[in-house]
Amino acid sequence: MNAYIERVLEDVKKRDAHEPEFLQTVEEVLKSLESMVDKHPEYEKAGLLERLVEPERVIEFRVPWVNDAGEVKVNRGFRVQFNGAIGPYKGGLRFASHVNLSVMKFLGFEQTFKNSLTSLPMGGGKGGSDFDPNGKSDGEIMRFCQSFMTELYRHIGPNVDVPAGDIGVGGREIGYLFGQYKRIRNAYENGVLTGKGPSFGGSPFRPEATGFGAVYYLCEVLKHEKDDIKGKTIAMSGFGNVAWGVAIKATQLGAKVVTLSGPDGYCYDPDGIATQEKWDYMLEMRSSGRNQAKDYADKFGVEFFPKQKPWGVKVDVCMPCAYQNEIGMPEAEQMLKNGLKYYIEVANMPTTNEALFYMMDKGLIVAPSKAVNAGGVSVSGLEMSQNSERLTWKPEEVDAMLLNIMVNIHAASEKAAEEAGLGYNLVAGANLAGFKKVADAMMAQGIV
Ligand code: GLU
Repeated sequence: MNAYIERVLEDVKKRDAHEPEFLQTVEEVLKSLESMVDKHPEYEKAGLLERLVEPERVIEFRVPWVNDAGEVKVNRGFRVQFNGAIGPYKGGLRFASHVNLSVMKFLGFEQTFKNSLTSLPMGGGKGGSDFDPNGKSDGEIMRFCQSFMTELYRHIGPNVDVPAGDIGVGGREIGYLFGQYKRIRNAYENGVLTGKGPSFGGSPFRPEATGFGAVYYLCEVLKHEKDDIKGKTIAMSGFGNVAWGVAIKATQLGAKVVTLSGPDGYCYDPDGIATQEKWDYMLEMRSSGRNQAKDYADKFGVEFFPKQKPWGVKVDVCMPCAYQNEIGMPEAEQMLKNGLKYYIEVANMPTTNEALFYMMDKGLIVAPSKAVNAGGVSVSGLEMSQNSERLTWKPEEVDAMLLNIMVNIHAASEKAAEEAGLGYNLVAGANLAGFKKVADAMMAQGIV
């Protein structure tokens, strides 16, 4: 390995030893940059990689709120402003009990490369809280969002840092967060958040963007392999916003999505999650706050597999749409045994590094999440443009731009990997293509 990369990696491992998710992504990304770092000895002199792995700013704060029983609760809030070289910090807010600094830093680091890949001017950031919205009342969610924003507002702004949704944060939460921001700032700066409702500056197509974008990317992979999405079977995990978009677009293009899952297990639907009624029910499942995949099985009379993941089902394409590290070696081995050909990551970092490199070694076509799920943040970037113009574009215009962005991300990744002599390696290609623009900007802007 390149000696400079090795040294920086060793340093991060020492300094951030207690942050496993962050170390995992740094290792995966830095190792894939070898060819470019070899070619640019000036990076080392400029301390480029040392700066790249250190967030520009980490904000951690107390979020006190009162539940419906009148009890005081205290959660921890975060915003990691990772890299602002190519634009204002941009990235979602995650409300989930697993949120901690390591998870925030891993997501902020990944977001830096993802946002660069979109070709829109957005830096990398991420935030959230260890608040678990499941089972909370609407009033509790609102009070929590208001308290969260009462601290966050001073660190963000349409030209500074633009949060959006992620796990546990959807349109309802963004509405409450924006209401409180507007009230405190006494200014109508709706470009401060994306994923807003259509009546106050939200972009058409933002809810669909991540899932639709992922399927557009899958189509590019299939085209490269002289294959077609028509007739393909897809196993998918999760049942949230991203999975919903995947199920709709994959069905529209002639594929069949046969699974969805939750923390309680997975459902197998041999007819496919392929009707408006089923898609609408996924939205209901999400807003119910029950966080149960079994509800789908009960409603549509399909088989439910308690406490199991869907990766043993024999399909053409696997698309994990739930959480980080849901696929390790046992799942990877199972997929290979089933003769899987396409492994398309959708959730952020759903695969352990060991399983990821194993699948690539065994010849599976692996597409990385930071490229595949970039459609969400891309349409967020388009929402920022619309808010700056004080105009709203037509849904079909936004969809066409999304498709174009996803086609370009695939092409840029393919080209970067080929130039590095790595063949059709979309994982390294995405890292190389995303890194290039950030590195050029950081080199031009001096030691900051
Ligand atoms: N949370 C999404 C992501 O991981 C979207 C972020 C955004 O729209 O800013 O990319």
